[in-house]
Amino acid sequence: MIKVENLVKKYGNKYAVNDVSFTVGDREIVGFLGPNGAGKSTTMNILTGYLSSTSGTCEIDGHDILEDSNKAKSSVGYLPEIPPLYMDMTVKEYLNFVYDLKGCKLNRVKHIQEILNVVKIEDVYNRLIRNLSRGYRQRVGIAQALIGNPKVIILDEPTIGLDPKQIVEVRNLIRTLGRDHSVILSTHILSEVQAVCDRIVIINKGRVVADKPTDEIGEIYTGTRRLEAKICGNSKEVLNALRSLQGITRADALAEHDLDATTFVIESAPGVDIRKPLFNMLASKNMPLVGLTSLGMNLEDIFISLTNDPTKAPAKKSSGSKGSKGSNAKKTLGYSVKEKND
Ligand code: ADP
Repeated sequence: MIKVENLVKKYGNKYAVNDVSFTVGDREIVGFLGPNGAGKSTTMNILTGYLSSTSGTCEIDGHDILEDSNKAKSSVGYLPEIPPLYMDMTVKEYLNFVYDLKGCKLNRVKHIQEILNVVKIEDVYNRLIRNLSRGYRQRVGIAQALIGNPKVIILDEPTIGLDPKQIVEVRNLIRTLGRDHSVILSTHILSEVQAVCDRIVIINKGRVVADKPTDEIGEIYTGTRRLEAKICGNSKEVLNALRSLQGITRADALAEHDLDATTFVIESAPGVDIRKPLFNMLASKNMPLVGLTSLGMNLEDIFISLTNDPTKAPAKKSSGSKGSKGSNAKKTLGYSVKEKND
C-alpha cells in the first residue's frame, strides 16, 4: 500500500532523511518511532505530498507521490500533530467544509454519518469545535482524515496531550481504522506502539534502524540472554571476573546489595548459555553465586539501544538494525552502574 524507497531529504548539507526505505501493507498499522529530530515528520510530510524529497521514491496505492501526485494524495488522510481545525465552526460545518475541499464524490450525508459512527462524535456534531475537549477535537481531526475514504491514514502523534481515558479511546479507534485502512502512526510512546501497531519502524538520525513486526522486535536481540546475578564478594573484583569470562559481552553492577551480595546484569553473546561457565568460574574464585534470574529485553531497552549510538552496534539479525547496548548506564566509582529499570 505504501512503498518508500531510498528516500533522501537534505536541508543544505544536512540530511533530515537519509536513504529511508520501508513498506506498509494493506490494512497494516505501522508505528513510526524515533527520538526528536529523527526525521519522522519529514518522512510523513513527504508521504502526504506536503514536502518534496531530494531523491528516492514514494508510492501510495501504486501512485508515485511526485508523478501521480493527485491520485497519491487522494489516497491519504492525514492528521498532523496539531489538528487543522477551525474553532469557530461546528463539527458539522467543518466536516462538510473538508468534504468540499477534498472534492469528495461519495454520498455526502451517508459518508459523513458513517465517519461520525466510526469516530463516535455524533453527540457533538452540532457543537462548536472551540467548546470540545481535546479528546473530541482529536476525533474530529481523525474524522477529517477519513473523509474521502482514503486507503492510507497517517497520524502524527495522535494521542499527545490527551488524558489516559482519551488515550485508550483514541487507541481503540486506531485499531478500528486498521480494519479498513493502512495506518502509519508516528509516536515516541513505546507502549502505544505495543498496544496498537502490527509493525514497528524505528528511525534514528534520518535512517531506519529497525523494521519488524511488533511481536518480533525482540528478535533483534535473538540469542542475547540477559541475566541478573547476585554474587558475593568485592563488587569491583566480581565485575572484573565477569567481564573477563569468555561469552559475556557486557556486565554491569546495579546499585543494589543484599548483605554481602551485589546484583549484576550480565549479557551473553548470541547462542551462548553462560550459566554453567559462570557458575564454575565464580566457584573457582570463591565468589558465591546466590541468585540467578533471566531478564527480558523490553521495547524501551531496544529503542534506547538502537537510537543511542549506532556505531557501536553488534551485528543484528534485522536488516539495517544497529545499536549499542546498555544505554542508561551511569559511570560511578570508576565502573559502570546500570540503573535497574525492569
Ligand atoms: P522528527 O519529526 O523525527 O522530530 P524532523 O523530521 O522534524 O524530525 O526533523 C529531522 C531533522 O531535519 C532535524 O534535525 C530537523 O532539525 C531538520 N529539519 C526539519 N525541517 C527543517 C527545515 N525546514 N530546515 C532545516 N532543517 C530542518
